[in-house]
Amino acid sequence: MNHKISKEIFKKAQKYIPGGVNSPVRAFKSVSREAPIFACKGEGAKIWDEDGNEYIDYICSWGPLILGHNHPKIIAGVRDAIELGSSFGLPTKKEVELAELITKCCPSIEMVRLTTSGTEATMSAVRLARAYTNRNKIAKFEGCYHGHSDALLVKSGSGLLTDGYQDSNGITEGVLKDTITIPFGNLKELNNILEKKNIACLIMEPVPANMGVIYPDVEFLKAVRELCTKTGTLLIFDEVISGFRLALGGAQEYFGITPDMTTLGKIIGGGYPVGAFGGKSEIMQLVAPMGRVYHAGTLSGNPIAVRAGYEMLTYLDENKETLYKELEDKVKYITKEAKKSAEKYGVNVVINSIGSLFTVFFTDKKEINNLKDALSSNTENFAIYFNTMLENGIICPPSQFEAHFVSIAHTQEILDKTLKVIDMAFKTIGE
Ligand code: PLP
Repeated sequence: MNHKISKEIFKKAQKYIPGGVNSPVRAFKSVSREAPIFACKGEGAKIWDEDGNEYIDYICSWGPLILGHNHPKIIAGVRDAIELGSSFGLPTKKEVELAELITKCCPSIEMVRLTTSGTEATMSAVRLARAYTNRNKIAKFEGCYHGHSDALLVKSGSGLLTDGYQDSNGITEGVLKDTITIPFGNLKELNNILEKKNIACLIMEPVPANMGVIYPDVEFLKAVRELCTKTGTLLIFDEVISGFRLALGGAQEYFGITPDMTTLGKIIGGGYPVGAFGGKSEIMQLVAPMGRVYHAGTLSGNPIAVRAGYEMLTYLDENKETLYKELEDKVKYITKEAKKSAEKYGVNVVINSIGSLFTVFFTDKKEINNLKDALSSNTENFAIYFNTMLENGIICPPSQFEAHFVSIAHTQEILDKTLKVIDMAFKTIGE
């Protein structure tokens, strides 16, 4: 496969953009490649790069594209919206309809405020939790990623983990000391922290997907809920990935656990920039202009992005009876067959999956349940896997510590083609 044009663009990109990319994992640094591929087109489960190469896509824009690229319903809505104007800086009717739809699909959200990214959603949710509880400290789990606001870039997952560090420079000591981190699944330590430290909120990915996918123990989630209630700590489910993905009502519906607040992003924008934070009215009423917790945005509730999100959520709502099961079945099939290939070649892997997400951990461990486990992975083997897939027309997340995303556009034929290449990759690793 020829990547001449992508390499040329990357050379120029590095002159004008730090690292040549606008989000670090996109540089393909951790998978030992000279340059990333520069994408130029997507259709269904496939994308094309500037060199004209075609790939089956398991990045799916890191989550928003649960219907695949360029879904006709979303394109039609976006075309409609574009004709009417790009942005008004005034409220629009569709924002209200999107908010109503979110609250209908996710009943723990009684009121919701739209943002332009998941980062803004989590940042604002934390600020709101501090104001509501009148407490300063917050807690999060190691290896979970909640966007790139200062308070949440502590023992973080995603791109930081990929590039081998977890705390960003440039954050004041004061901010760092107010964020307490706990290993995922460690109830004893969580209990200790919540009991003693007067914590405003615990923010968590109910299904961690930013250190690779971790399947949470439902008893752990229930205990977390109880501990938060007992200690007056607000429980924030960061469902930027899991929202509208595991079920229409996200992980909270999937596991039957009700958080106090929820943050959303990715899918709710249908591939356009939308995030949201919401929860009980009693809490949300503190947001300006009702209350004095400030949140604003020139492009918050942008009409085009909102229309894309509205079309996306309407589609998911109309098809919820079959769509989520179908997605889960696709992932069950691919992970079951991939495990067989791994066994055949004696490659030690743990494949964690839930709903339409999965991660292949190259590890000798029997289970991957937290950051420490995830860090046991052999990232060199992951790089071989990634590069074999890429050279054979399949683009996976360029990091051991991320999720593969499956969409409804991933047909049986596409899954079977993927499995053939996974088999080749495992064979190479096993040799
Ligand atoms: N929260 C979670 C769980 C995420 O996975 C992400 C991004 O990947 C974010 C928050 C931040 O969202 P965004 O990248 O839209 O700012």
